Amino acid sequence: MLDLAYEPPKPKVISGARHDWELVIGMEVHAQVASKAKLFSGASTAFGAEPNSNVSFVDAAMPGMLPVINEFCIEQAVRTGLGLKARINLVSAFDRKNYFYPDLPQGYQISQLYHPLVGEGEVLVDMAPGVARRVRIERIHVEQDAGKSIHDMDPAMSFVDLNRTGVALMEIVSRPDIRGPEEAAAYLTKLRQIMRYLGTCEGNMQSGNLRADVNVSVCRPGAYEKFIETGDPGHLGTRCEIKNMNSMRFIQQAIDYEARRQIALLEEGGEVVQETRLYDPDRGETRSMRSKEEAHDYRYFPDPDLLPLELEQDWVDAIADSLPELPDAKKARFVADYGLTEYDAGVLTAEVAAADYFEQVADGRDGKQAANWVINELFGRLKKDEREITESPVSPAQLGGIIDLIASGDISGKIAKELFEIVYAEGGDPAEIVEARGMRQVTDTGAIEAEVDRIIAENPAQVEKARANPKVAGWFVGQVMKATGGKANPKAVNDIVAAKLGL
Ligand code: ADP
Ligand code: MG
Repeated sequence: MLDLAYEPPKPKVISGARHDWELVIGMEVHAQVASKAKLFSGASTAFGAEPNSNVSFVDAAMPGMLPVINEFCIEQAVRTGLGLKARINLVSAFDRKNYFYPDLPQGYQISQLYHPLVGEGEVLVDMAPGVARRVRIERIHVEQDAGKSIHDMDPAMSFVDLNRTGVALMEIVSRPDIRGPEEAAAYLTKLRQIMRYLGTCEGNMQSGNLRADVNVSVCRPGAYEKFIETGDPGHLGTRCEIKNMNSMRFIQQAIDYEARRQIALLEEGGEVVQETRLYDPDRGETRSMRSKEEAHDYRYFPDPDLLPLELEQDWVDAIADSLPELPDAKKARFVADYGLTEYDAGVLTAEVAAADYFEQVADGRDGKQAANWVINELFGRLKKDEREITESPVSPAQLGGIIDLIASGDISGKIAKELFEIVYAEGGDPAEIVEARGMRQVTDTGAIEAEVDRIIAENPAQVEKARANPKVAGWFVGQVMKATGGKANPKAVNDIVAAKLGL
């Protein structure tokens, strides 16, 4: 296994303030379960459907309708828990969180307050090659999403779309172990990566299936350590919660703004009030949404329509046995088996599809060379066209074929890049293309010697210069490469030029 240096959390210190301050952040992440049907009804979860077309009587809260648990959704939440090395609670229960909102026809959201499905776990957050930090997970509970109110389509009316009502969410609650904006983004990135590996959440932030409430507080150096030592949150500062963030960039901006706001307040002798705030990306600031005094009293109580959820250990064990290799393990294996740097292994394992692609290219070939081609050429080219790895016009077999032609000395590295471009644009078998288009490398030293002789004879002045300054030999190498259309073996050319010039 990879020997990661697990650093203790390193606080971000805010500059410009009178005193030193440290940041403390805890996140509540709402991840939409990748399920075709909703949590308590059979209605579709398809994104972008005609408003109110995916609404069952249960979702619309028609009188007398009863929720029925979707087993698949529970399985995905358990899978997520296992992927985060968390405790699975064999008995959990659903509670009603009561509040009125036009897009919540039930008048309550079914959630899990007292007995969540998943207990304590952890996430290793990658900060830099060789540096990971541990963020503890407090719990994961399963709950329904609400619908959507639309206020900007009519000057006088609001509309309600219930398509999202009842969609299954996993709320992943972290401990306040995150110590800076970059770490917050890295934490969310890692959660998303793990869930995409598990297939339990698509993690598409634009379409809102991954959102975060970010709790931010500041404290003086040493306070966080006391909190860790004693477990007493009284050592920490008062927090504010920034609601409903679905952009990594805005999360970082919001945390930075919020920390500075709190520090300024405290340094002026004021106090931070616990409240919910919203981030306005246009102005780059957070604004109060509601204070603790105005906070809802949700009157949580066990939902009488649903029996406690009891799982069998065998069922949980079967899910545990079916987990795929997860990012940390895959990355460690890539470093150990293919001799990759941790950085490259991290790039290749960011998405399962990319990792699988790489492994097919590396199969029976040099791992480092395969990694270079996948990362530098393929990823670079795909990025230019805004294509995903799954849409790559070059298959692993074709890329492997190109690498084989370099290894066998049939083509130079330079020609290989041209060949890659041809395969990318036109498709085809790399070896056949090399044959058909005469791209084979000239290793015939006789032919190269003739070329070098000619260039030396035609350029006596350059020969003078090269004898005085051996660096000028490079000019001759360049001329030979040009004359042979880049097909001459570069090493052979270098050797012959040096010999002929008597260097
Ligand atoms: P509540 O019970 O009021 O919802 P929790 O203890 O469940 O509060 O915490 C909610 C979220 O706020 C968690 O993600 C937690 O890590 C975070 N949090 C709690 N205290 C702080 C703090 N002082 N600073 C930053 N985040 C905090
Ligand atoms: Mg809470």
